[in-house]
Amino acid sequence: RQAVYARLRELPAITRQGVRIGIHMNAGLLLDLQHLHDSGADGIGLYRTELPFMARSSLPDVAAQTLLYKKILDQAEGKPVVFRTLDVGGDKVLPYWNPYEEDNPALGWRSIRITLDRPAVMRSQLRALLRAAQGRELSVMFPMIAEVSEFVQAKRILDKELEHERLAGSPLPTKVLVGTMLEVPALALQLDALLPMVDFVSIGSNDLTQFLFAVDRGNPRIAERYDPLAPAMIRFMRYVAVKCNQYRVSLSVCGEMAGRPLEAMALIGAGIRNLSLSAPSIGPVKTMIRSLEIGALEAYLNTLLKSPDHSLRNKLKTFALDHGV
Ligand code: PEP
Ligand code: MG
Repeated sequence: RQAVYARLRELPAITRQGVRIGIHMNAGLLLDLQHLHDSGADGIGLYRTELPFMARSSLPDVAAQTLLYKKILDQAEGKPVVFRTLDVGGDKVLPYWNPYEEDNPALGWRSIRITLDRPAVMRSQLRALLRAAQGRELSVMFPMIAEVSEFVQAKRILDKELEHERLAGSPLPTKVLVGTMLEVPALALQLDALLPMVDFVSIGSNDLTQFLFAVDRGNPRIAERYDPLAPAMIRFMRYVAVKCNQYRVSLSVCGEMAGRPLEAMALIGAGIRNLSLSAPSIGPVKTMIRSLEIGALEAYLNTLLKSPDHSLRNKLKTFALDHGV
């Protein structure tokens, strides 16, 4: 199997009818970057910056962060990297920050809510990213955005940092692309306001499933209720894909869903054309894509979306078997 996937590296991720699917990698450690080239991924679709923060004994300063982000860009050798700003709180705790006891940590003070309330942390991270990307392209993504106004606030901090660097006479990135995660369902109902402001959107299906169904993503007792192949999830994906198409905004999915062949197949059927997944999942997902007939899948999915089923999993499995996917 390893040999099969190694051969796959050179082959493009195109469906039987020639539709190209962007395959990006999720990463969080410098170590992961090794796989960028041997997996054949188009770039890093999600770099989780909190992982290096969690592995340290204190908050890294601008210089330390600049060094780290620079190494990542160097190792990417020109392939695009999407840096997600600090996404801590909830289940991701920084050992050197006093834990803040909350009844509902997943719904609490986490992620962008922390960095907007503590803008010094956000500023130091953005400044480091701008410096690391001098003379190159930079992509920044904000996590857990629930309202357009939060995106506006975060973007304003980025613009200020950019201005700061410009005034200081520092070299700037050649281009700064700014996007957001879509993992809080409310944001999907604000796309007409959001999409004109962003360069890209990435759906975080892990948190999205949790919030769409009000089902804790880590609670085994209700794991059966946490199913990304529920009809409502697929409809949600299709709605966002249509909207992003309308506004010509690049869209991807970077949650675990994108790395499971059957779920990735459903995403493609719903109109998603970019996936970001962990390196070991790239081979199996690419194999699925290369045997997929999108037209038949779309038609079939259309009939399924009216289904009252809890999950489309069994039906999609049957489709895959019947169509040699
Ligand atoms: C997600 O929620 O789907 C996601 C990609 O972010 P994380 O898993 O880091 O919360
Ligand atoms: Mg998330």
